[in-house]
Amino acid sequence: MSHDAQVATLKSLRLYGMAQAWGELAQQASPLYQTAQPMLDALLKAEVAEREVRSVSYQMKAARFPAYKDLAGFDFAHSLVDQALVRQLHRGEFMAQAQNIVLVGGPGTGKTHLATALGVHAIAHLHRRVRFFSTLDLVNALELEKAAGEQGQLAGRLVAADLVILDELGYLPFSQAGGALLFHLIGKLYEHTSLIITTNLSFAEWASVFGDAKMTTALLDRLTHRCHILETGNDSYRFKTSATTTPKEARNRRSDT
Ligand code: ADP
Ligand code: MG
Repeated sequence: MSHDAQVATLKSLRLYGMAQAWGELAQQASPLYQTAQPMLDALLKAEVAEREVRSVSYQMKAARFPAYKDLAGFDFAHSLVDQALVRQLHRGEFMAQAQNIVLVGGPGTGKTHLATALGVHAIAHLHRRVRFFSTLDLVNALELEKAAGEQGQLAGRLVAADLVILDELGYLPFSQAGGALLFHLIGKLYEHTSLIITTNLSFAEWASVFGDAKMTTALLDRLTHRCHILETGNDSYRFKTSATTTPKEARNRRSDT
């Protein structure tokens, strides 16, 4: 590292006193500075690495994933999902423009697994801020917040995140008031924070969850404006893997002959 890079790194670590002293030592051109220069390099690298580890582990906890999942643990041979699109989204560029992802499919088809894997990767490798919610828990939290006269606080915090995951939209209905609060929140996140929504419902069925057709149309209009849709099908992974052959294996075998 050059002297200037060292000073910049010290400042980025908020070690302003050290940054200034290091500048002064360099100007005095003392032999002490010459010997210490490579040592400071090593120390700075160690501190930067340590802070990165600490920050990633803090963000992992703050995200509140229900379980750790990654793409390495996802078996594409047993899934209908578009692998190329999953791998492209995994690179995380969708967050730069606050694009959204909707994962739609039946229960047990890997929606939560994939949403978590994208979130985990965004934290561990892209240093993004991610928050994971069961949709119903989030709606409950929004209702409690409103009852306490603190409406908007959660939205304010979530706008500062890069990615919010809403898991299981549509598994359980919520009240019309709850739907309106969620609608409002999604509106605030629009164009600031990416959303990943997992759901068993087709878009046409969303009105039944929000309980208001007009609001649902407005919501879908925004949500799908910059949206990637990943369909995971309807065959549960556990159910499929308990069978002896997968449809793909069976197909491959047939084409061998
Ligand atoms: P969903 O959210 O669609 O209901 P999950 O993501 O919770 O489904 O998947 C149910 C379980 O099956 C999880 O433990 C998940 O890790 C596992 N699973 C689902 N699909 C796959 C897959 N293609 N490869 C590996 N594990 C999978
Ligand atoms: Mg799920």
